Amino acid sequence: MVKTEETLEEPKKLNEEVVEEEKLEVEKDIIEVAGVEEETLPIPETDLGKWNPKTTLGKKVKSGEITNIDQILDKGEKILEKEIVEILLPKLENELLMVGQSKGKFGGGARRVFKQTQKKTPEGNKPSFACFAVVGDKDGYIGGGYGKSKDTVPAREKAIRKAKLNVFKIRRGCGSWQCGCKTPHSIPFQAVGKCGSVEIKLMPAPKGKGLCIEKECAKILRLAGIKDVWSKTKGQTKVKQNLIMACFNALKKIMQMKVNKELIESVGLVEGRKKLEI
Ligand SMILES: [Zn+2]
Repeated sequence: MVKTEETLEEPKKLNEEVVEEEKLEVEKDIIEVAGVEEETLPIPETDLGKWNPKTTLGKKVKSGEITNIDQILDKGEKILEKEIVEILLPKLENELLMVGQSKGKFGGGARRVFKQTQKKTPEGNKPSFACFAVVGDKDGYIGGGYGKSKDTVPAREKAIRKAKLNVFKIRRGCGSWQCGCKTPHSIPFQAVGKCGSVEIKLMPAPKGKGLCIEKECAKILRLAGIKDVWSKTKGQTKVKQNLIMACFNALKKIMQMKVNKELIESVGLVEGRKKLEI
């Protein structure tokens, strides 16, 4: 009986050792990959003179038939070439949001631009990078996109390209009862956006209040051209991607709301760049 017990125990120990070795290997890999710093290479600017449009919309933009992005957005047409947006909104700025988390021991978890994941394959660990980009001209136009790739640079380029294709306009105004200045420094009325368990409520604030909101959402609103806002969140706001999407949904909801003359007059509603007329 004693002999059999020993023989039974031995293979178990061996297995444990093997597992530990594997773990060590995995940790080494992670450290190696985490050593890759966020690359700050400048984004190559596309030469708009050499651009050859493929879609009818692109051809119209190049020939000068369409000169305002509202002509496209009001019809609800789909933009398939990022150059269209680059020509019509030349002041566009982009920013990457911190959706990722750094890996490492002792808690780790500092927010990073790139969300890094790994897939286990027979050949080894295959890392993959993803990031979320926001573009905006600080004057009523904004877009967001998510890009994923094997490396950081193509992931960033994909995200920025998608963000440009998803451009939409927002409504601004002064909906604050304390202010009533009728200039587009805040939002015209409060709105709630949802994504997953996350719920975010944006509320108009008086002039000079600043963006009283979570950091990543503040980046979005700054690029949109909103300067003062109050907010309240609910749910798992640690899930940054959902929080960001909820913020976008709230801005889209403001756009969808039906407005009457009285509201337009009292708030000084601005759609995109254009002031709404009664
Ligand atoms: Zn105001």
